Amino acid sequence: MTKKERINALIVALEQRYPSAECALEYNGDPWRLLVMGRLSAQCTDARVNEVCRSLFARYPTMADFAEADVTELEEAVRPCGLYRVKAQNLQDAARMLLTEFDGRIPDTMEELLRIPGVGRKIANLLLGDLFGKPAIVADTHCIRLAGRFGFVPAGERDPYKVERALAAITPPEKSSDFCHRLVLFGREVCSARAPKCTVCPVHDLCKRPRD
Ligand code: SF4
Repeated sequence: MTKKERINALIVALEQRYPSAECALEYNGDPWRLLVMGRLSAQCTDARVNEVCRSLFARYPTMADFAEADVTELEEAVRPCGLYRVKAQNLQDAARMLLTEFDGRIPDTMEELLRIPGVGRKIANLLLGDLFGKPAIVADTHCIRLAGRFGFVPAGERDPYKVERALAAITPPEKSSDFCHRLVLFGREVCSARAPKCTVCPVHDLCKRPRD
């Protein structure tokens, strides 16, 4: 099978296993909150981000609240997510920029998104896919690991941009965003970093990971 044939077979299998391809971040349909949670998720689990954000959004419900916050207090509110000083400053700077330059909207192009403080390609793709339904490969840790195991990128490739480019070249664009959400679900449930459950794996025949 070619890479395109294998990724299409994988997409179908994951669609059947995970009919709902919802984002693991509980942002309740609020674009600003997805940006905040995407930023906080760097080197932090989605579960912790969800937990921290319940009290964070109770205290700072809107973009304007982040823009006007005492940054030291904002730091304390996001501290459990790690890297709290830079994350808090990024969120305040992002809120101020979006209010000033975009009238409080989240822009819908990669070029504009990458200008927002703290927003890199991973968050930008998350926003493009989830908010605007645009083609988007979110090259997070699960996506990178699984791309290697399925042989879509060379073994050991860890560069998120190279993984994003490689997957974008073989993934049907309209499927790409949901596919990445399903990779996260599959990576957690079956193909974890340390203990992949190969003996019960439903897509064993598509995998290129060397057998023990
Ligand atoms: S066979 Fe093992 S390594 Fe390959 S996808 Fe399945 S769980 Fe992951």
